[in-house]
Amino acid sequence: MKKYILSLDEGTTSTRSILFDRKGKIIASAQKEFTQYYPASGWVEQDAMEIYASQYATMTEAVVASGISPDEIAAVGITNQRETSVVWNKETGRPIAPAIVWQCRRTEPLCEGLKTDGYETMIREKTGLPIDAYFSASKIRWILDNTEGARDAAEKGNLLFGTIDTWLIWKLTGGKVHATDLTNASRTMLFNIHTRTWDTELLALFDIPQNMLPEVKMSADDYGTLHLLGEEIPIRGVAGDQQAALFGQACFSEGDAKNTYGTGCFLLMNTGTSPKKNDSGLITTLAATEYGRTPEYALEGSVFVGGAVIQWLRDELGFLRDSADSAYFAQKVKDNGGVYVVPAFTGLGAPHWDMHARGTITGLTRGSGRNHIIRAALESIAYQTNDILGAMQKSIDTPLRSLKVDGGASKNTFLMQFQSDISAIAVHKSGETEATALGAAFLAGLAVGFWKDRTELASLCSVSEIYFPTMRKEEREKNLIGWNKAVKMTTYLSALERE
Ligand code: ADP
Repeated sequence: MKKYILSLDEGTTSTRSILFDRKGKIIASAQKEFTQYYPASGWVEQDAMEIYASQYATMTEAVVASGISPDEIAAVGITNQRETSVVWNKETGRPIAPAIVWQCRRTEPLCEGLKTDGYETMIREKTGLPIDAYFSASKIRWILDNTEGARDAAEKGNLLFGTIDTWLIWKLTGGKVHATDLTNASRTMLFNIHTRTWDTELLALFDIPQNMLPEVKMSADDYGTLHLLGEEIPIRGVAGDQQAALFGQACFSEGDAKNTYGTGCFLLMNTGTSPKKNDSGLITTLAATEYGRTPEYALEGSVFVGGAVIQWLRDELGFLRDSADSAYFAQKVKDNGGVYVVPAFTGLGAPHWDMHARGTITGLTRGSGRNHIIRAALESIAYQTNDILGAMQKSIDTPLRSLKVDGGASKNTFLMQFQSDISAIAVHKSGETEATALGAAFLAGLAVGFWKDRTELASLCSVSEIYFPTMRKEEREKNLIGWNKAVKMTTYLSALERE
């Protein structure tokens, strides 16, 4: 009987390979960073060959280090940075240009033009996405328009496109499989999330030949086989990183939400089998679903500055030596003393949407101290999360069930308790810090019968802590009023600035 699942976790800055056992526990892992290229202001590129090579190396390293035999691996799952786009020649197997990374802003003018031309509503309705340079469509267009001979080769059917999952699958299967999963497809801005097919109108709008695009499969499905240390292993799970984390946190029912507290925060909520519209600027996206089930959807929102506000206190203001100390200092004062930090360093995201806003600190008095500011900065992470949860709640009929949390800043006990208090919801901290990789493993394991069903998966998800709300309603309301006022002041200042 096979004993392990191998998860390939291809992130924005590094590739990792992790072996999980039947209990969903990590038995070995390997990680390699790869090069980021910043050829112009706002541009971010990666070398797809380097990504493939480093993924292959970590895969081999993890298996060798574990001491297991590769024939004990039941299946491989892949999870990846989303939206990053690669175009390659199918004869040579080499990319024709550097991969354009999700963060890259070079196609902003193209996206602005589409907005001016009034395409926003049509694109949002079909894809669930706002027009933005993040998503793959404008990146593919850019590569075709700016690489010599590319358009001609694409028309002749010699080029293939893929997000990083697709690129890795194609390389790992020796060019046999050109496929992606629903979650990755839903981030390209070319995929109709209702019909779940590539949209011919959008392909025409972006001038992208359909023959470049991969076949779209379920997230637990047949993606061919790879060769590893003389063994042939099936690839059976694929999902974009945030959707993989949602699955790895066992958010299987409508109203189950997860938040990853990293540099920024990524919130996703399962909304069941129908896509939910949202007026607050949240993204409607596909959730990871196995073959044989009706595809599920999710709402997604992100906090631009999450843990980064603590980094700022540490590196710019010198208030902390270590991010983790913030919990200790925050609890040295009995409350925030009326101080609110709105860390709108790069604008305010959902549901406020003000890209011109800049950070503010409000409510300072002669008695305000460093600890009040530290506390208010931590609280701001919870308030921003709460604003997104509130927007999500408006789109579903059932009440939010729980919030499952992971990521670096979820270790902060003060922050987690405050989140529970301010959102009046139970916060479950995962016992597994690698929810993303585990999600991909879960998908692959389900596809080959390594794990029986979702119930079994849920039983494998350990919860290391649960935080229950303890704050009195009046105090919660008072805090929320304070926060909302601070946000209003921030947007007011931004409006003044533009007058
Ligand atoms: P990413 O995956 O985005 O690089 P991590 O999940 O490693 O991020 O989280 C790192 C971020 O979380 C940093 O911005 C750091 O300041 C913040 N952070 C880490 N630990 C804590 C903590 N105990 N309390 C508050 N913030 C923290």
